[in-house]
Amino acid sequence: MAAVEVKNLVKHYGSIEAVKGVSFTIDKGEIFGLIGPNGAGKTTVLRIIATLLQITSGAAKILDYDVEKQPNEIRRFISYLPEDAGAYKTLTGKAYLQFIANFFDVKKTQEMVQKGIEIADLDERINDKVDTYSKGMKRRLLVGRTLMTNPKLAILDEPTSGLDVVNAQEVRRIIKNTAKQGAAVLLSSHNMLEVEYLCDRISLIAEGKIVEEGKPDALMKKYDANNIEEVFTKVVQ
Ligand code: ATP
Repeated sequence: MAAVEVKNLVKHYGSIEAVKGVSFTIDKGEIFGLIGPNGAGKTTVLRIIATLLQITSGAAKILDYDVEKQPNEIRRFISYLPEDAGAYKTLTGKAYLQFIANFFDVKKTQEMVQKGIEIADLDERINDKVDTYSKGMKRRLLVGRTLMTNPKLAILDEPTSGLDVVNAQEVRRIIKNTAKQGAAVLLSSHNMLEVEYLCDRISLIAEGKIVEEGKPDALMKKYDANNIEEVFTKVVQ
C-alpha cells in the first residue's frame, strides 16, 4: 500500500484553476518533492493532502484513507508544516511544544516534547519566549513541533524557507532521518538545488500540472543537465 496516492486532482478557486489533474504516489519511507515556481499549485496540493481544502475533482488517499471521506482518521497520523506557520509568541519554545503535545496521546506528551526540543536544538533558548526568537529559530521550533509527533506522513511546505545554510542543512538532515525511520515525507520547494540532495523522487509542477517526474539523478541524465534548475528550464521551454 502506498503512503500517498493522488489521482487526477483538480482544484478551482472560483474561476482560478490552481491544480489541473495532478497524479502521484509516495511510498513509505520516501521523500517526495513537489517542485515549481511561485503560483504553480504546490501549497494547494499540500493543503488538500493535509485535509484542509476541498477537492474540486479527483481523489487523494493517505494509507488508504480517503482525504474527503475520512479526514479525522488521517489527521491522527499526519503532520503539516505550513509555509507561513507561526507559534504563540507569548509562550516559551518549550511551553509551545507542551501545548501542542497536549492535543495528542497524554501518555506520550513528555516523550514528544523531549523529541521536539531535540529537533529544534535551541539549547537554553528553548526556555525563552518565542517572540525573542530569530526567524530561523522560530522555523526550527516549528519543524520540531511538526516532527515530534512521529507522523506516518509529514507534509512540509518550504521546510527550509528563511533558514541560513547551517540551519537549512540541519533541518534537511532531520527530514532525512524522519524518512529513514519509515515516515513518508511530502515537501514543496522552489529551491531546486536543495531537493537534489533531499528528495528520493520529485515532480516538477508548473501552472497546476505535473510536467515531469522521477529521481533527481535520472532526470539530470535524461535532460543532460547539471542540476534540477537546468532540468526545469529545459522541461518548461
Ligand atoms: P508559492 O510557491 O508562491 O507558495 P504555490 O506553488 O504554492 O506558490 P499555490 O499557493 O498553490 O501555489 O497557488 C496556486 C494558484 O492558486 C495561484 O494562482 C494562486 O493565486 C491561487 N490561489 C491559492 N490560494 C487561493 C485562494 N485561497 N483563493 C484564490 N486563489 C488562490
